[in-house]
Amino acid sequence: MDVRRRPVKPLDGPVDPRSKQRRADDVVVAGGDASSIKASDALPLPLYLTNAVFFTLFFSVVYYLLSRWREKIRTSTPLHLVTPAEMAAIVAFVASFIYLVGFFGVDFVQSLILRPAGDVWTADDEEDEVVVVGADHEKILLKEDSRSSPCGQALDCAPIVQKPKLVDPVVQDAPKEKVIEAVPIALPEEDEEIIKSVLEGKTPSYSLESKLGDCKRAAAIRREALQRITGKSLSGLPLEGFDYESILGQCCEMPVGYVQIPVGIAGPLLLDGREYSVPMATTEGCLVASTNRGCKAIFMSGGATSVLLRDGMTRAPIVRFASAKRAADLKFFLENPANFETLAVVFNRSSRFARLQNIKCAIAGKNLYMRFSCSTGDAMGMNMVSKGVQNVLDFLQNDFSDMDVLGISGNFCADKKPAAVNWIEGRGKSVVCEATIKGDMVRKVLKTSVESLVELNMLKNLTGSAMAGALGGFNAHASNIVAAIFIATGQDPAQNVESSHCITMMEAINDGKDLHVSVTMPSVEVGTVGGGTQLASQSACLNLLGVKGANKELAGANSRLLATVVAGAVLAGELSLMSAISAGQLVNSHMKYNRSGKDLAKVSS
Ligand code: ADP
Repeated sequence: MDVRRRPVKPLDGPVDPRSKQRRADDVVVAGGDASSIKASDALPLPLYLTNAVFFTLFFSVVYYLLSRWREKIRTSTPLHLVTPAEMAAIVAFVASFIYLVGFFGVDFVQSLILRPAGDVWTADDEEDEVVVVGADHEKILLKEDSRSSPCGQALDCAPIVQKPKLVDPVVQDAPKEKVIEAVPIALPEEDEEIIKSVLEGKTPSYSLESKLGDCKRAAAIRREALQRITGKSLSGLPLEGFDYESILGQCCEMPVGYVQIPVGIAGPLLLDGREYSVPMATTEGCLVASTNRGCKAIFMSGGATSVLLRDGMTRAPIVRFASAKRAADLKFFLENPANFETLAVVFNRSSRFARLQNIKCAIAGKNLYMRFSCSTGDAMGMNMVSKGVQNVLDFLQNDFSDMDVLGISGNFCADKKPAAVNWIEGRGKSVVCEATIKGDMVRKVLKTSVESLVELNMLKNLTGSAMAGALGGFNAHASNIVAAIFIATGQDPAQNVESSHCITMMEAINDGKDLHVSVTMPSVEVGTVGGGTQLASQSACLNLLGVKGANKELAGANSRLLATVVAGAVLAGELSLMSAISAGQLVNSHMKYNRSGKDLAKVSS
């Protein structure tokens, strides 16, 4: 995709180099820019017709001249004696030759020596070709794609993967289609002893790290033991190149390697006057390209704006009493504003960042569900809120000694399950993000019209989802974008369930010329400290967004900013997929682009 963005003017005042902040109104829309005019625009006929004409001309004059040449040799006529017809044929030969070399030769040479210009954009990309991906793996081609490499295919940037140390070379060379059997290889005697002990069940696999005091060695030994037990090779799963100490006791137990997921960049996403390059970890072909196209439409229209509506993580324990009356007593106690301050003091002891916001109760017979909500700084906050809740439960036992605590989580929280309580009350960050997309950009970048987008949004995202009985699923594919950003930035991917709750709204404005689009996401659960966020790769992606770690000036500012970026990227993804569907390319493109070139029948199961 040849997309160009003209450089934006720098701010009048000093610019923070980290944030690359730009004013939204500094965006230069390059409509009518001479640089976007193509030589082919000057041709009186469509390109394929002129190509066909010159091809035919070239081969017919070559055939004619060769037959004349043979005739002259046969009749011993001097070659320099040319008839007017031969002269015309020579001129036609030279002209068609120049055309063909100029058209195909230059393009070929350029393809060898020039690289694509990155993510720079112009407004008038009439030839922009984008394949977008949507929910249910719908891939949609918006225009015939002349590029030879499929979307998402690596160019010359294949990662250097170190060979797993413990893998037999015979195994590595085996054909990929076959199930690879592991061949035991000899290790240092010391390690062999430990492997033997693991295989005999004398040393538990989980205890290797603490026994050896070397996480990498523990992973290598566990891996080899696993291969010997199962007889299956792990040769494709890298062992080298990962810091196993960094996950100890925090992110993953009993590691034997790590899975590689490519990270693509969508953007710049112009959001609240700042540009973001959005990292997306995905193996879903064309998802990044699709989001990128949405970012372009937003950028060329002056950017998107977001508002954070609330920020509070929740946890809801379940307690039981002997009667509904007693359960109701506790409900009234917890919801009485006069008791809030005491409860907050007890709760907030869990962390200097945890601040109790409210407690909402629900009763089912004699069982009480108490939904505690609190701010958690830059942490996603599940641990923090759970600790606070435990403090309050211990405190309540004094006055409600007949309270039977059944569980710290009673599913009224609700974590990692689709639930109306999150959709209505919110969980984590509640964000709304909006943009006005200029009619011109809807046509030129998104290749559709304002009217058809609005109509499709009403019938698909609103009515269609209502017909399906959707819960928070009033969107085209928010979860695609949320999942990819979550994985790239070290969020808990399981929380994609509620973090993808989203309603997409579209409305024609300015007398139907422009499009107002918004996404409202009530439960985006993200953090920039804790969990997987501090791992090297994930931390690098957070750093790219300028939200790595704890915000030193204002606790919570980084995680809140990350939530708005997620919503901004979802806005871009929604725009792009909805446009593709409204352009009516779904079925053809699905058949053409959602099929792997590989013969899957040959891949053994
Ligand atoms: P979570 O609650 O999301 O599961 P953790 O249990 O890892 O995450 O809690 C985050 C940890 O990071 C806490 O120990 C907290 O004290 C610490 N921390 C440091 N800076 C911050 C910050 N700005 N916001 C939130 N937590 C922070």
